[in-house]
Amino acid sequence: MNKKKIKVLFAASELAPIAKVGGLADVMEGLPRALHRLGISARIVIPFYAHVRMPCRKKFSFFVGKARAHLWEGKLGGITVYLLENKFYFGRGPIYASRTAFADTDKETKKFLFFSEAVYSLLQDHRFWKPDVVHCNDWHTGELARILKESRQQGSPKIVFTIHNLQNQGRTAKGNPMANGIASADMVNTVSPTYAKEILTTEYSCGLEGELSTRAGERKLKGILNGTDYAYWPKIKRNKKAFQNMLGLSQLASVPVFGFIARLTSQKGVRLILPLVENFAKSRTAQFVFLGQGERDLEQALATFAKRYPRFVYVKIGFDEKLARAIYAQSDFFLMPSVFEPCGLGQMIAMRYGTPPIVRATGGLKDSVKHFRTGLVFKKPRAEELIRVARMAMRLYHTQKFRRMTKMCMQQDFSWRASALAYKKMYQRILSEK
Ligand code: ADP
Repeated sequence: MNKKKIKVLFAASELAPIAKVGGLADVMEGLPRALHRLGISARIVIPFYAHVRMPCRKKFSFFVGKARAHLWEGKLGGITVYLLENKFYFGRGPIYASRTAFADTDKETKKFLFFSEAVYSLLQDHRFWKPDVVHCNDWHTGELARILKESRQQGSPKIVFTIHNLQNQGRTAKGNPMANGIASADMVNTVSPTYAKEILTTEYSCGLEGELSTRAGERKLKGILNGTDYAYWPKIKRNKKAFQNMLGLSQLASVPVFGFIARLTSQKGVRLILPLVENFAKSRTAQFVFLGQGERDLEQALATFAKRYPRFVYVKIGFDEKLARAIYAQSDFFLMPSVFEPCGLGQMIAMRYGTPPIVRATGGLKDSVKHFRTGLVFKKPRAEELIRVARMAMRLYHTQKFRRMTKMCMQQDFSWRASALAYKKMYQRILSEK
């Protein structure tokens, strides 16, 4: 097995930079490339959404039941990308119906059930590539895992199912694609060791502790921490004054800037942040920069602060990769007080730029940030706790210890290599099993 190049097809709903909503897109951009460097042949298939622009050529047309679909092929960063075209399902609208990325309509579930069926049809087509492993990601491809398992024959590909966020399951009256993916795969993993343990508890399992405990009991549930593609996040020179100026904030060198970038959902702990902003912006002791979109009430709550304290709070509601880079690189601290966080990439990207993250001890945040060494960590998901550590950060900001912390952040290695090695081992293991 070791001598033959392992072939892996990733199936997912997102891929950076052409179809990005959150971290799933970053993973699909970084992991296949890192695997490629380890001698694995990795390719990706995603839906051909209306907004996707990349050089590609049409390969062939095929049937998915009675519907027609078309396969396009292109390359991104040296990796072959397949785009699956069907005008009815993917030809209109954004990637997800909801800006928070949470499935909220039957229509959305049908769209990704179709994607799953289409990828399955492709795998049956003699004109298509023959992978050894089909690597499914989140509920969008849970049905694919299920069909692959049900139709399995000698020589069929093995199935890996990665959980990026358990809260979003694509559940309808007819079924639960996330649960099907978990039950059908030869190996299930999630994106950090701590989250892999947390999801076995009622508090974090989103109703699937039974299914997950079964797989854990079979030793088929693992946690592998995500990485960061450092090439995707190039070094940027710090210039706090220019940053403050660009955003219309007072140009105060001594006041720390707290940055925040996320889908605006309750998962990301936005509600914990609101009292912090009120407190510190009013007293003019800290500045805040927010970038995100999602739940309307959270968007509005943040926008109100920007109106009230324009020289201390900047808010952009929307998706903006360029501004995201500036926030990671120019803020003094990065806020990520998530209620739960399967892995989280924001904290790793921030550390890459020497911006210590302030995080809650959960999931991948717990696995990647060391209290008082590379950031600040608090336990209880309560606003007072966040205020307590933010005060600590403000005291720290004026000391030598802060400089050391920023250096330590930059010395961390969260590149994809270690994760890719763990995935390679996982593929080898399932391929050696009957
Ligand atoms: P999640 O996958 O739950 O959304 P992660 O922290 O794993 O959270 O990854 C989020 C990714 O999406 C990061 O690359 C972050 O920079 C990016 N991101 C989130 N919201 C925005 C936004 N409004 N504009 C630009 N990038 C964003």
